[in-house]
Amino acid sequence: MKIEESKTLFEKSREYFPGGVNSPVRAFGSVGGVPVFVKRASGSHIFDEDGNEYIDYVNSWGPSILGHACGPVVEAVREACLYGLSFGAPTRKELVLGTLIRECIPSMEMMRMVSSGTEAVMSAIRAARGYTGRDKIIKFIGCYHGHSDGLLVKAGSGALTESAPDSAGVPASYTQHTLLARYNDEDSVKKLFSEFPDDIGALVVEPVAANMGLVPPKPGFLGFLREITAKYGAVLIFDEVITGFRMGLGGAQGYYGVTPDMTALGKIAGGGMPMGVYGGRKEIMEVVSPLGKVYQAGTLSGNPIATTAGIATIRTLMEQPGIYSSLEEKAGKLVKTLKETLPETWVNQAGSLFSVFFTKDQVVDFDTALASDTVKYGTYFHYLLEHGIYTAPSQFEILFLSAAHTDEDIEKTCSIIKDAAGIIS
Ligand SMILES: *Cc1c(COP(=O)(O)O)cnc(C)c1O
Repeated sequence: MKIEESKTLFEKSREYFPGGVNSPVRAFGSVGGVPVFVKRASGSHIFDEDGNEYIDYVNSWGPSILGHACGPVVEAVREACLYGLSFGAPTRKELVLGTLIRECIPSMEMMRMVSSGTEAVMSAIRAARGYTGRDKIIKFIGCYHGHSDGLLVKAGSGALTESAPDSAGVPASYTQHTLLARYNDEDSVKKLFSEFPDDIGALVVEPVAANMGLVPPKPGFLGFLREITAKYGAVLIFDEVITGFRMGLGGAQGYYGVTPDMTALGKIAGGGMPMGVYGGRKEIMEVVSPLGKVYQAGTLSGNPIATTAGIATIRTLMEQPGIYSSLEEKAGKLVKTLKETLPETWVNQAGSLFSVFFTKDQVVDFDTALASDTVKYGTYFHYLLEHGIYTAPSQFEILFLSAAHTDEDIEKTCSIIKDAAGIIS
């Protein structure tokens, strides 16, 4: 495979951007080699600067659930551009998107739009602290909630792959109120609440952990979190930046039937444009400025182009709810092939989300995920890439399917996975 253009672009980019990229995992640091520079994408396929074509399972890390350059989304965006790119004033479109979101996720009674998932979770926590008047929060080891200071503790994928779980540049005093629990471990949560019964303002969790590879919640785990937070008066925040509109229109909370106090959205909510949303119970959201005393603002918040892309994406999903069962079916076929062909691996799946770990033992949390052989993953990754399959350049990221993936794409991918098995055993 020829990747000369990508090589040249990467070398030049390294002079301008740390590691040659604008987000760390893109640099292929943990799998080695040169990242392919993407020129364009269409449906389930991406094309690099050297003209190579790949079936894409990264999907911009989740947003492109309808496939790249999806007709109705692109048309709506094209039209919206002609009306102006940003006003810094309220628009009808924000109301339309807000209405659609609340229709799908009724627990988001009131919400605020921001420009990224990081901002959404960071702001949800600020609101929860303002509402409860408590400083401490609980997060789970291996869950990622964006790169805001207080949440950059044992934060999964990016940080994990670099084997630097805590970031330099974050003062210890910023994370002293961040308490750590183990995913799927009820006792670790009980212990923290009994130690700090009156100090914990919020518990934030990925209802399906998707940033240490895919780790589904054990049956009853989310319900337990709902009960214990209610008992101690802490705000339960579901970080649905990945799972929102991915596990179904109602997100993971709809899928598992557990209702949080607050929810953070991103990725699909902007249909490929920068967008984050946080919201929840009205009495909590009423603490947010200008109504309440928790300050939070954004020049480009509720941007008309991003809201347009979000509206078009969510409307399309609402019109074609069959997309979700079809995504699960495609995921099922890939998971079956992975399980049957790759030796000494563990595969986790929830809805259409899945990932393969290069360890033969069950993966239920961060520690068990870390047992994976990342060198083997790198070999597997490069075999797939060279054969036209673009998956996550990290053992600790998951695969994303889109409505545009065809049976032919899936069959081709399965057959290449089978071939890959031969070279990594
Ligand atoms: C991607 C992600 C974020 C951060 O969103 P950005 O838009 O990258 O800032 C937060 N939480 C989860 C669960 C994510 O997967």
